[in-house]
Order: sequence, then structure tokens, then C-alpha cells
Amino acid sequence: MQAITEKIWCVVPAAGIGSRMQAETPKQYLKLNKLTILDTTLERLLSTDKLELIVVSLTPDDSEWHKSIFSNHRKVITVQGGRERVDSVLNGISALKQRASINDWVLVHDAVRPCVRVSDIELLIKKALESQIGAILVAPLHDTIKESDDGFSAKTLDRSALWRALTPQVFKINQLELALTKAKEYALNVTDEASAVEQLGQPVQLVKSHTDNIKITSPEDLDLARYYIAQQDK
Ligand code: C5P
Repeated sequence: MQAITEKIWCVVPAAGIGSRMQAETPKQYLKLNKLTILDTTLERLLSTDKLELIVVSLTPDDSEWHKSIFSNHRKVITVQGGRERVDSVLNGISALKQRASINDWVLVHDAVRPCVRVSDIELLIKKALESQIGAILVAPLHDTIKESDDGFSAKTLDRSALWRALTPQVFKINQLELALTKAKEYALNVTDEASAVEQLGQPVQLVKSHTDNIKITSPEDLDLARYYIAQQDK
């Protein structure tokens, strides 16, 4: 049962340079419609009343954040990001730890996933709190998946057991801080929070998401995100 004192805090790593986007502006500041990618993401996170505070990790030379419609929002603060995504998340957690208590949770969501649905964020939180086990949003794979060996197909994987890991991902704050710190210590390649928690041998629940929760990586993703958002608004 959920203890009354458990709160959920949030970190949004937004300190990537987005080199695959081939744009002058860092990708999180590209416009989707009226809002930037980052502001669209923050708008969705702020639409649930479940989050206490959102910490946005920014590059040290960020020159765009002050234009955000949320730059003075009472529930949003910023910290300096780090070299890798994991460093940006750890810096966000440090800022939260001054405010959070031992039983609290942290929800981490990529700045560049603006199509996330509020209902999926809330479902993820509900599942984690009910079971007291960290959880991540995932989507099924529809293509047949090949493992390659030097340009040739070595084998075909069983896709029914494979999932795409999305964000948000939610864990106990102390658990995630330890997992990410250890992963860094052992120089493990962690591209999401769950992989660090798995390395500790701890369980991670998979919660099925809508598949439109895409990560904007390349220029064509921008149009796809605009399309999904228009469909969701209907
Ligand atoms: O590079 P990738 O697309 O995996 O980035 C995922 C998220 O992590 C993005 O929101 C990006 O801004 C963030 N990130 C970060 N600090 C880094 C690298 C990426 O906050 N050093």
C-alpha cells in the first residue's frame, strides 16, 4: 500500500546537443507548433498533479531556456547537465535530494519525447506505487529483428520477448542514484535508467505505452511528432 508520505519528483534531461538533427538550434528547442519540443514535453508533465517539482538539466552554455514559457514556473527548476545523459540525470537527482525524503520516487523523462500521453505517465506512476517496484514505459516491436554478424544475419530474435524501452521511467530516488553511480563507476553503457537498475539485479516492471511516444532524433521525426500531436488533440 502506498505510504501517504511518498512523493514523486521529476528529472528531464535536456542537455543533449542532438547532433543527428543537423540543426543550428539544439533539438529540444526546435519548434513543433507554437511550442518548442521541450516546452511541449514540460506542458504534458505539468498536466498531471502527481509531480512535486521538475528539474530540467541544461548544457552549461544553454542560451534558449530563458525563452521557455516555463522558465519561471513554480514547479520547474534547472541544473547543469553533464557529459553523458547519465550525468545529467544524476545532477538532477542531486538537486532533488535536498527536498525529497527517503521513500520518494523520481520519474525521469527525455526532453525529446513530447508526444507522451498524460494517461501513460499516470498509469506508470500508478503501477509503481501499487507494487512498490520501479517501472518503465515500453512498446512492442512489430518488425522481425535480426542479429548481425559483420553485415550478415547471424540469427533472428524472438520479438515476442523484446520491447522498446521508452521514458518516463520511475524508481525510488535512492535506488536510482545508487544504480547510476555504480554504472558510472564500472563504466557500464547505460542509455536508460532501467539498464542501471537491472545491473544491480533489481526488478523493473514493463508498462505498455501508446506507441506514439517517440524520441525525436532525426529531422523526419519532427513531422511525425507534429502528426501524432494533432491526432491526439482530436
Ligand atoms: O542523445 P539522446 O537522444 O539519447 O538523448 C536523450 C535525452 O537525454 C535528451 O532529452 C537529451 O537532451 C538528454 N541528454 C542530456 N545530457 C547529455 C546527453 C543527452 O541531458 N549529456
